[in-house]
Order: sequence, then structure tokens, then C-alpha cells
Amino acid sequence: MSDTTPASRAQALRALLEKYNRAYYRDDAPLVSDAEYDGLFRELQALEEAHPELLTADSPTQRVGAAPVEAFEPVRHPVPMLSLANAFSDGDMADFDRRVHDRLDIDAETAVDYIAEPKLDGLAVSLIYENGVLVRGATRGDGSTGENITANLRTIDDVPLRLNTEQPPAMLEVRGEVFMPLAGFHALNTRAEKYGQKVFANPRNAAAGSLRLLDSRITAKRPLALYVYALGQVEGVDVPATHSATLEWLAGLGFPVNPEITACHGLAACQQAYADFAEKRAGLAYEIDGVVFKVDRLDYQADLGFVSRAPRWAIARKFPAEEVPTLLESVEFQVGRTGALTPVARLAPVQVGGVVVSNATLHNMDEVRRKDVRVGDTVIVRRAGDVIPEVARVLPELRPDNARLIELPQTCPECGSKVETVEGEAVARCSGGLFCPAQRKAAVLHFASRKALDIEGLGEKLVAQLLEGGLIEHVDDLFALEPATLARLDRMGEKSAAKLVAAIAKARETSFARFIYSLGIREVGEATAQALAGSFASLDELMAADAERLEAIQDIGPIVAKHIVAFFAEEHNRRIIDNLLEAGVHWPDPQPAGAGAETADDLAGNTYVLTGTFEGYTRDELKARLQVRGAKVTGSVSKKTTAVFAGEAPGSKVAKAEAAGVPVEDQAALFGLLAIEEQAD
Ligand code: NAD
Repeated sequence: MSDTTPASRAQALRALLEKYNRAYYRDDAPLVSDAEYDGLFRELQALEEAHPELLTADSPTQRVGAAPVEAFEPVRHPVPMLSLANAFSDGDMADFDRRVHDRLDIDAETAVDYIAEPKLDGLAVSLIYENGVLVRGATRGDGSTGENITANLRTIDDVPLRLNTEQPPAMLEVRGEVFMPLAGFHALNTRAEKYGQKVFANPRNAAAGSLRLLDSRITAKRPLALYVYALGQVEGVDVPATHSATLEWLAGLGFPVNPEITACHGLAACQQAYADFAEKRAGLAYEIDGVVFKVDRLDYQADLGFVSRAPRWAIARKFPAEEVPTLLESVEFQVGRTGALTPVARLAPVQVGGVVVSNATLHNMDEVRRKDVRVGDTVIVRRAGDVIPEVARVLPELRPDNARLIELPQTCPECGSKVETVEGEAVARCSGGLFCPAQRKAAVLHFASRKALDIEGLGEKLVAQLLEGGLIEHVDDLFALEPATLARLDRMGEKSAAKLVAAIAKARETSFARFIYSLGIREVGEATAQALAGSFASLDELMAADAERLEAIQDIGPIVAKHIVAFFAEEHNRRIIDNLLEAGVHWPDPQPAGAGAETADDLAGNTYVLTGTFEGYTRDELKARLQVRGAKVTGSVSKKTTAVFAGEAPGSKVAKAEAAGVPVEDQAALFGLLAIEEQAD
């Protein structure tokens, strides 16, 4: 067995990136997402920086694109067509701005003017006009040599065949991006699917594939568009002094210029523009994968110059990626509330979806085996929306010889009890029950969590201290805690002790649904707890219900019903419930009027979307209330959406709804529907 060395790692990365490049540039059929590619690219860049002796002239980090394909006539670019350096965070942007200041010798307080442009996800093209007439159009290729695709470019309506001027320059090279707007892309793929033809992975590949067809009559039928964003070679005319004025001049000559382009005075304005584009992105008619920032003054651009493959005066700030590669360093098993052992991957920290991730779930051993994950592997970590980061898959090409198999421990890592696996179940469990400190800790944390009794300040460390110090054994003991005892704990002053006791006292007043949820019955999540609360007049009635009665409730199946019956049959659980009630935990009587069992389905067939914040309720709580009544609640607006409920500071979903003709309603309408009384100020 040999360990991975920087040299072998760099070589493996180069080989893999080459393979991805060929698929992406030559075949217009990428094998992986851009984020995955970018992650590996950055790793190689960092390796080459740390070990300059490993840098080869033909490394993918030193080159632009890929060599042109032979089917087209190769053409040399009068001025090389470069790539762009990337930024992935506010910090990267600040570094870029600092470098610009340093190189231009401008003091830090003086703001530099930048232009922010949507980074269109298409194909860069060069258009050459001689005496005002389009004579040549080419792809970027490897930056110095591109493919002659004049015939295809001529078919695009947005490409002017003749400049709109009486006095055209002798030679004008204009650069821009050919892209496929989303509507056209979807229509193209739908048709392709119907006729069993090639379906494109994304609009970028559809645009690139369409532009590089050998039969321009087919290109002519493809819904391609163009926005221009730069000049190449120019002869016989004076060009403006800034990038923004150049864009205006080009617009005057008849070129389409993206109307979203904005000017930014200084770094803070750039950060703001990025945030604005991130917000706007979903509503645009075409795909963008980031924002390009360019120094506006062309004399500054000339002073700043280039590095190997990108200009120093521009940077592409990419939107956060939801799937990123990183190294799996080790695996630990975490014991949950119900004893389930979850394999958790400890990762080399990496930015995913805009946050740093260093742990990701591997779910269970079946998943570990199915995905063939090993310690030492390079894995793809995925995070979409609020979902806990997970290991999506492995890159087998980058597996070192000494990668280690992951094995399920025989005994619980927390309490040493035997680990049990049930035939047909993917999950392995610690058999220690409430003897296991990890299970007890998880039960208390669940009880105190935001969606349960919402005890502020009762976090993981504190719960561990309380249990280890013997101050509590189960959740009911929380209500007997005294400030004086708490104050003796490590890192706990009198003030915070009093605050915690007050928070616990406040949690006594809750709702029936939250109480049911807080008990931590297996498979009873928030929505099920809501359904139970809406279907029983009292806790006694719920505790007495048999499986048949429970299964009559919508969305409660035999397994969940069995867990509920088993939970309440347990003497120990009944005692804790009694103690909780005795300690003063209470809730208003359920009001079956609007949400009673007989009307439980009155919103069936309706689909809602919630956006923004609502007074006194989390979106999840409101979602559960709608679901109990049969409604569907989804995360994105479509033609099937009945209405969007917009609270305070809603997101881009409102604009989407308006564009799709879906009604947008306010908090009052939602609360009215759910018979919630709004709190008067
Ligand atoms: P890039 O896409 O990061 O940036 C340069 C390109 O941005 C330009 O050539 C131009 O086409 C485009 N662009 C869009 N809007 C622009 C604007 N307003 N101003 C200037 N340029 C604009 O770099 P690249 O060299 O074209 O490609 C590298 C990227 O391609 C990688 O970061 C990766 O995301 C992707 N890629 C993916 C794979 C894969 O397998 N998925 C393989 C290779 C490359």
C-alpha cells in the first residue's frame, strides 16, 4: 500500500480534469457539475502553489478551454480570448479589490469603479467586422485558436450582420456570450425527448452544442441569443475610455447589451450588487452562474494586465455551489434519540451552499455500502436548501491505495451496550435505551428544541453538563432546577442561571401539538404531531387511542400508529408525562371548530408556497397546519400553485408568482384561513 503524495495527487487531479474538459468542451456533454469541477480545479491550483515543482506547462490550471475540433476551420484570435479568475466569498472579493488597489497604487480609501455583469452561462464568441460587415465569427477554443463558426453565428437574429453606422471602423472585433434562454432550452429538450434525440444537460451545453453543428440550417432553428461584453482588436476608430462607455457605444452600433449590467462605486457596492443578482437570479429568463466584476477604466485595465489564463482587472464571483468535492478524513458513529447509529463523515472543511461544512451524514450502513464510501476517499458533499449536508458519492478515480473500509461498531461508542441490527431495517441501534447517555442527551435536546418546547439557551454543552453532573436524568427534571444549583456549573454565572430557569418556566406554556412533538415518539415529526393534536380533544384521549383509531387519521400509517401505542404503553413514559403535567406544563384546549377531524381535508387539492417570516410562527409550523388540512405545501412556485403566502421580507418567490399569474396573499389571509388570531401590537 502506498500513501497519497502531493505529486500523485496532482497527477490524478490533472488526469481527471482533462477527462472532464474533453467531455465539456469537445463533446458538450459534461460528466460532472461545474461546482464539482471547480472544487477539484481549486485543489490542483492550491497544490501547485504549495509545490511549484509540480506545476506543468500543460496543466489544466494553465490553459484556457480546449483545442478546437477538427471539423471546423481553425482561426487565430488577433487578441487572445481568456478565462476569468473566480471568487467564491466576500473575502475573495475583498482580496481582489485589494490587489487592484495595490497594483494601481491607489490608496485603500479611494473607491475603484467597477461594472457588474451577470455571468451568462453560454459560449464565448468573437465577431469580426470589416468596414462594418460581419466577416468572421469564432469560438474561444483554447484561447489563441478557435473554431470558425461564421455560418452558424449568422443564423442568430441577435448577431448584427452589418454595423449600425455611417462610418464603420476598418476592423472591429466584438466579444460576447451566445446563450440559450431557459424557455427555449426547455422547449428544445422536450422536443428532443419526444423524438428520442439527444437531451442537453443544461442551457450552456445546449448553446455550445447548437453553435458547433455542422449544418447551420439546424442551428438556425435553435433558440440562441447573444449579449456582448467586450472589444477585441479595433482599427480605424477611437474607442471610449471606460468599459461602461464601450458597452453604450456597442449598443449604439446595434449590438445587444445586457440591460441588467450595473455600475458599482467601490467594494461595498460590488458586494451589494452580488447579493442583488443572487436575489434576481431565479426570475431571469436565462441561466447565470455568477456575477463578473470588471474595472471600469480601460487605462487601469491596461495597467493591470493579465496572468496566465485570466485578466487581473476582472473576477467572476460564482454563486454558492450545492455539491462540492472534499476529503473524507474519518468516520464517527453518532447515537440519536432512538438509539439509531448514524455514520458521520468528518471532512476537510469546504464551502457548500455558502457555509463551511466539516461534517456530513452517511445516513446508515446500507448507504455506506451502496455508495462504496471509504475513509481517505474524495467525496462529493451535497447540501440543498436546509437539508443536512450529506455525502452524495465518491470519486473512485481519486481513491488512494490505503483507503479504509467503514465498519459498524459492535458496541455503542457512547455506553458500550450491544449494537443491534434488525433484519430488513437499514438502521443499527444501540440497545442501551435510556441507560445510554447519548440517547438521554438527544431526548432532552429534542424536548428543548425550537419546534418542541423551545427552551432558549439549553444547548448541547449545557445538557451534557446537566446529565453528567446528575442534575437531571430525564426531561421532567428540568422544571425542578434551581438557579443556585445551576450557578455552580462551569461557565455558568448567576445571571445566566436565572435566565435559563426563566426560559424553562416560560416553556410550561405550550401548544398540544408541540407537547406531543416534544415527547420524541419515534416517527412522530412536526406534521404528525399537528395531525394528532387536531384529531384528539385531549391528551388522555390520545394516550388511550388504539392503532385502529390512530390509523384513521390522514397520513398516519400502521408503523407510526404502532410506535405511538408502544410509547404510551410504556410505564416509564407515562410517569414522565404525569410529572410534566404536575410541573405545570399546559396548553390551551384544542379547538376542533375549524381544524376538527371531520374537516381535516378541507384544503385538499390546494398547493401553497410560503415565503418570508410570519409573526409568532415558523414557516414549518404553518406548513404543518396547512398539511393537516389536506393542502400541499411546496418550496417553489409553479403553474400548479394555488397561492403564495408572503410574510415579512419575502424572497424572489413573489416575483415568480406574479410572473406566473399565481395570486400572492399576505399574512392576514393565511392566518384567516388557519383561524389564527393575529397579535395586536
Ligand atoms: P469561466 O466560465 O469561469 O469564465 C470565463 C467565461 O465566462 C468567458 O469565456 C465567457 O464565456 C464567460 N462570461 C459570461 N458572462 C461574461 C461576462 N459578462 N463577461 C466576461 N465573460 C463572461 O471560465 P471558462 O474558462 O470558460 O470555463 C471554466 C469553467 O467551466 C469552470 O469554472 C467550470 O465551471 C466549467 N467547466 C466545467 C466542466 C465540467 O465538467 N462540468 C469542465 C470544464 C469546465
